[in-house]
Order: sequence, then structure tokens, then C-alpha cells
Amino acid sequence: MPHVVTQACCGDASCVFACPVNCIHPTPDEPDFATAEMLYIDPASCVDCGACVKACPVGAIKPHTRLGEHDLVFLDLNAAFHAEPPATPRPSQAPVPPVVRLQERGPLRVAVVGAGPAGLYAADELLKQDGVEVTVLDRLPTPHGLVRAGVAPDHQTTKDIGALFRQIEDQRGFDYRLGVRVGTDVSHEELAAHHDAVVYATGASADRRLGIPGEDLPGSLTATDVVAWYNGHPDQVDLRPRLQGRRAVVVGNGNVALDVARVLVTDPDRLAVTDVADHALAALRGSDLREVVVLGRRGPAEAAFTMPELLGLLARDDLDVVVEGVDLDALPDHPKVQALRDGVTRDPDPGRRRIVLRFLTAPVEVVGDQRVEGLRVTRTALRDDPVTGRTVAEVVGPEEVLEASVVLRSVGYRSVPIEGVPFDPDRHLVPNVDGRVLEAPGGDLVPGVYVVGWAKRGPSGFIGTNKSCSLGTVNALLADANAGRLPTPTGGAADLDRLLRERGTGVVDRDAWRALAAHERELGRQQGRPRVKLSDVGEMARVVEAARLASPPRRRPSRLASRARTSGRGA
Ligand code: NAP
Repeated sequence: MPHVVTQACCGDASCVFACPVNCIHPTPDEPDFATAEMLYIDPASCVDCGACVKACPVGAIKPHTRLGEHDLVFLDLNAAFHAEPPATPRPSQAPVPPVVRLQERGPLRVAVVGAGPAGLYAADELLKQDGVEVTVLDRLPTPHGLVRAGVAPDHQTTKDIGALFRQIEDQRGFDYRLGVRVGTDVSHEELAAHHDAVVYATGASADRRLGIPGEDLPGSLTATDVVAWYNGHPDQVDLRPRLQGRRAVVVGNGNVALDVARVLVTDPDRLAVTDVADHALAALRGSDLREVVVLGRRGPAEAAFTMPELLGLLARDDLDVVVEGVDLDALPDHPKVQALRDGVTRDPDPGRRRIVLRFLTAPVEVVGDQRVEGLRVTRTALRDDPVTGRTVAEVVGPEEVLEASVVLRSVGYRSVPIEGVPFDPDRHLVPNVDGRVLEAPGGDLVPGVYVVGWAKRGPSGFIGTNKSCSLGTVNALLADANAGRLPTPTGGAADLDRLLRERGTGVVDRDAWRALAAHERELGRQQGRPRVKLSDVGEMARVVEAARLASPPRRRPSRLASRARTSGRGA
């Protein structure tokens, strides 16, 4: 009776190390781990102990007898990965990644900039050492990065990883300084002067551009911004995408494109029980959109969406999913092609909302007079590039215009530079070797400065991929500490707090965040939702201030609280 990994797999490999018989693969030491779309349990060797179920932070592993109708397909997917015997015999237990031990007992004070998954995994690895103190900073008053502001609201189980984040936050030696923008409120140099080391976990917050005419017309938006909008990110509250008109087009067919497409045509009542932002839910209730076309310039076998996400989409019974641009039956066999053959809606209902997966079609121009009226596209054909070995799309025509009221580009994220921190403008990341930051690509190391997550390796992988990524960087940091390679700080935690206070840039610390999170959960409880996310920074300030008055802080008021008091808008 095997266990089965299902769609929500976050890839953090906790299950791998919990498994007593090494039946979950690929393991982090195996070459295909970096590119795997999920992890897979071998049904032949699973001993049904359930240890993996307890270890999984997102509830993605289920006994095969408890699979819902839509999860049954993952039984085959897990088994298919293990159909061929491994090329080399596997050890009886997955090798645990090497961990560097801090030789001298601390105190070692580390600032982690960015409170998303990569930053929190880095904090967790650091706090496994005695005497380490970690302060996690973020420009927003709320932590958890893309788990809060990126994961689609109809993927609530993925957000279960928040429970792991709460455990990390609860550890001794952990604190937050949220609402502090490094590079503006405090410089990199100041941060470095007050810590033994600084770890950047700033992700990839900007979008890549298409470089086609009309890209900046009103109504041509980035998927990144729309994701932030429906997730209540304070920066995008006023985005108000135009949802009047019957069709939206999303350019690119990665997992982000599928997320946005689904959310735009999901029945709002289905979203109403999630933590979708209230302003987005109201807008979606008034939406006329009936169809979202997801444009892939290559074919289904080359599509950037992963199998788990494709299978999840095809399992939706409230949407039709159709394919255009290719004849599925004429394509060579491939798991994604087969999944589409099996799962697309063969007889779509014109009355139902639909997602069109259109392949072999590339964008040419966003068309419209005052605002978006459509997207000019062209047919493509595939050819093998002998230099890169990659299958690429070649424009063959003809062109046509897809009428649409909104065009979203979803062609990948990119990191943005932080004042004072090295940046590689070609690769859009912080230049580094194994997480140690370099002055420039190929240049010298910057002592005491490190990077994790998308800012380190580019925008790829899943939430859990950041666990092994962060471990690698933390090992480098600890090795440097042991070798005496970290610069000596000139100030301590209290000095930095004083500096921030003098500038009027106090912080939301861990206690203040807990109060804010409890408030959001309570609002959610009243509405039968996991939480109601606040997206107005002023309102967050009032909640923090009310909590401070109810339970005076031991140390000092928060920045947001002082902002609320000075603006005379107390709770
Ligand atoms: P992505 O997976 O890199 O997909 C980018 C897409 O944009 C590809 O389809 C790519 O096509 C296309 N593209 C790039 N340049 C283009 C151009 N000039 N014209 C037309 N198409 C173009 O990026 P993403 O969707 O933003 O995802 C980022 C990462 O987050 C991925 O690792 C993803 O798996 C992860 N993620 C995971 C989940 C989840 O697990 N549920 C959810 C969201 C994101 P080509 O392939 O032809 O280059």
C-alpha cells in the first residue's frame, strides 16, 4: 500500500530524509534533483510507514487508498518515475547533505535580507548552530515573500508551508525587522557594519520584458503584478486590471501563466473561501472574462508548465481546457502530450469559462489605440539549435490578431539591484560562487556577504528548492566564520535599532508580526477563510499599535506603530 506524492509537492526533500528505505527520488545529491518537477515515491519499495507524510510541510503525500479522484493520476506519475531500475544501485538511506558546524560557540550575528522562503530557510539552517542570532529584514511589514504574495489563492495547501515558517520564527535567536528597506532606510554598509555577515534573499521581484511594440499600452500588464494584486501585495492594490471584455491573453506558458489564467476564470465563489485579496475578489465578481488564452511559442512537449500543475489544471471540473495550434494526435509521444490527449475537454461548452492552451504561437505586437485591443501573433515551427542543443521556435507565419481586453506577459522574473550590493546586469542576479558574493562576475569575494534563492541562482524551482540552496550558502558562511574570514562588526543589534529609530524607521518585529498575523487569522475565522490579508500599510500600522497598547512591548514600539500615532490614526 504505497504512499504517493501529489500536486502540492514543494520539493524541499524533507520526506527524502524521513524515509527509512530511500524510496523517494530524486534525492538532493542526485543530478536530476535540480530539474525535477516534483519528487516521486517508488511504489515497489515504499514500506507504508507514513514517516514522509509527517515530514512533508505542505501535506502533499497521501496513502494511495486516500487519494481523491483527481489525485489518482499521481499514482501513475510516481510509479512511472521508478519504472526503470536506477543506473547505479542506491544506498539504503539517502545521504544527508554535509552540514558545516560552527567551531567557536557564537555569538554570531547574521542579517538576512528578505523574509521569503529562501531567507527563512537560511535563518533555519543558521539557527541550528549554537549561539547564532538571526535578524530577518524585509521592505514589507509582512514576511513570507511569494508564499504570501505569489502562490495562487486556489493553491491553499501550498501555503501550509506557513506552519513551517512559524516554527522557524519561534526559534530562540530569531527576530524580524520588517518594514525596513535595505538600500534606502539602512544602507548595505550600515547593515554589514552591525553584523558578522549579511545574507541577501531578495528574490526576483521584477518581470522580464517581451521587447515588442505596444508592450506599454494601458491594459498590457505583467503576470507578476497581477499575481501580487490578487494576493493583496500593498504595491499592487491599485492595479485594477481591466476584466471587461471576453478574452485575456497570457504570453508564456510557465506555472505562473497557468496560475494567473486559472485565477482569472475561476468561479469567484470558489475563491471566496481562500485568502484572495478582497479587492481582487470584488473585481473578479464583476469580470466578464470567459476565456484566457495561454500562449506558448513552442509545443506541448517543450511547455514550461510542470506536469503536476498541468494535471491539476486538467482535473478542474469547473473549467474547460482546450488546445489550439497543434494536433495532439499527430505529435510524438511525450508525457505532457499524453496528459493533454487524456485530459483536455473534447467537447467544450460555449457557456463555460475556458482556458485555451495555444502552442507554436509567438507574440508580435500588442495592438490597440488608447489601450489594449488585442495581440498580434505569428505561427512558429520547431527546430533543433545545434549550438545549444535546445529545441527553439522559429517564426514561420502567418500572423493574426487575437482580440483581447488584457494582455499579460508571463515570461519569467528577474532580480533587481540593491544599492551597495554587487549585481550582474546580464544574468540579473547577485554574482556569487556557492552563495559567496563576488564584487563582479569572475571578480573577488566580498567578505561577509552571501546570497540565497532566486537572487543567487535565477528564478527557477519551487518553494522547497530553496532549502538545499540556502543550506549550501549557510555552509559557506559557517566555513568562513570557522576560518576567521568574516569581518568584525563595529556595532551591535541595539546600535542598529537606535540608528533606525533616529531615522524614524522603526520596525515590525516578531511580536508585532505575530499580532498582525493573529488579527488576519481572526478576520478569516469570522468569514470561514484561512485569513483575510491586510494590504494597506496604514491599516497594518493600526493593528500593530492596538496590539502594542493591549500588551506593551518589552523593548520598544514598532515603526509602523509610531507612524500610525504620528498620523493621528490610532486604532
Ligand atoms: P518560466 O517557467 O521560466 O516560464 C517562462 C515562459 O515564458 C516560458 O513558456 C517561455 O517560453 C516563455 N517566454 C520567455 N520569453 C518569451 C518570449 N520572448 N516570447 C514568448 N514566450 C517567452 O517562468 P515562470 O512561469 O515565471 O516560473 C518561474 C519559476 O517559478 C518556475 O521554476 C516555476 O516552476 C516556478 N513556479 C512554480 C509554481 C508551482 O509549483 N505551482 C507556481 C509558480 C511558479 P520558452 O520555454 O519557449 O522559453
